[in-house]
Amino acid sequence: MLYRVIDETEAPALVAAFMERYEVVAPVKRGDKYVFSAVDSFDEIALDYPTTIASPKKYLLPAKETLFEFDAENNEVTDYTDEVRPRVLFGVHACDINGLQNLSSVFNDPRYPDPYYAAHAAATLIVGVACMPSANCFCNLMDAEEARAAYDLFLTNIGGRYLVSIGSVVAANVLEAACDVREATDEDRIAFRAATRARQEAFNRDIPDIQEIPMLMDAFHEDEFWEELGGRCLSCNACANVCPTCYCFDIRDTLDPGAATGRRERVWDACTSPQFAMVAGGHNFRPTPASRVRHRMYHKLNGFLAKHDRNLCVGCGRCVSACKVDISPIEVLKFFDRKGA
Ligand code: SF4
Ligand code: SF4
Repeated sequence: MLYRVIDETEAPALVAAFMERYEVVAPVKRGDKYVFSAVDSFDEIALDYPTTIASPKKYLLPAKETLFEFDAENNEVTDYTDEVRPRVLFGVHACDINGLQNLSSVFNDPRYPDPYYAAHAAATLIVGVACMPSANCFCNLMDAEEARAAYDLFLTNIGGRYLVSIGSVVAANVLEAACDVREATDEDRIAFRAATRARQEAFNRDIPDIQEIPMLMDAFHEDEFWEELGGRCLSCNACANVCPTCYCFDIRDTLDPGAATGRRERVWDACTSPQFAMVAGGHNFRPTPASRVRHRMYHKLNGFLAKHDRNLCVGCGRCVSACKVDISPIEVLKFFDRKGA
């Protein structure tokens, strides 16, 4: 990894340079919250945001995406790649970068590569920014507080300047052309270490660190705790909609009147939906809210780990805020803590 330093005042020039060739999407303030949105100038960007309502996942896996359109009369198919635009996701936190890396593990699986996700990913540069944790953040417990890969640039403010980790040649070239880049000194490296330590010390220590989550989830699979959680669940899917790592989708074919033209669309789905595991004939493999909530938590904290060697949950804390009845991985960690784990 290459490390360089730029002055903090050069961030606008870096964004402007990206804007010459890319749509720039960044965190912006909306009321008292923050969202990722396309911006026209650096002034719109709130780089010191705590977190956004939803993750930047929607730019690689849109909530609703037309995969192709067809015209049976003229025997034509309009290709999905026409709609993919070059884009920079600017100011992405480490947890979300790790979340996107988890999505990449799924959609870029060499056995079943997803060309739609791959097309978005190939057109997207990611510029990360180091953050300070909020009360609901537990990325440190999910090994997701550092972005070790899957970004093009990563900026850490080390006091009036950024230490820039460089992850790709294309982004390095933009950086070099836009900014007065210099090599990192020992003083910069020490400042970087201090910034990292300050972040580590700022995490909410009331969220229990349970190392044996997968084993415990298997051991307590039938515990009444899941019924208690399920009894609260509203099946609203808010948790899945804000989550950077929920990736389930449905496919819908829609015909226009006359049935000669139409489109195939992919839309987000969620395992917390009552009909998610319903199959032809009406059987539902997860008929109760308890079975659905349990499944979601198992996928986040157990099942994905077994296959990909890391948790699917990256501890971003968004579902903690989104869920109106306090169901989240933090509740699961606290349950195991109460059990004396
Ligand atoms: S499960 Fe919740 S905390 Fe974990 S990544 Fe998803 S939204 Fe973030
Ligand atoms: S766990 Fe919470 S946010 Fe998720 S579907 Fe149930 S009520 Fe909605």
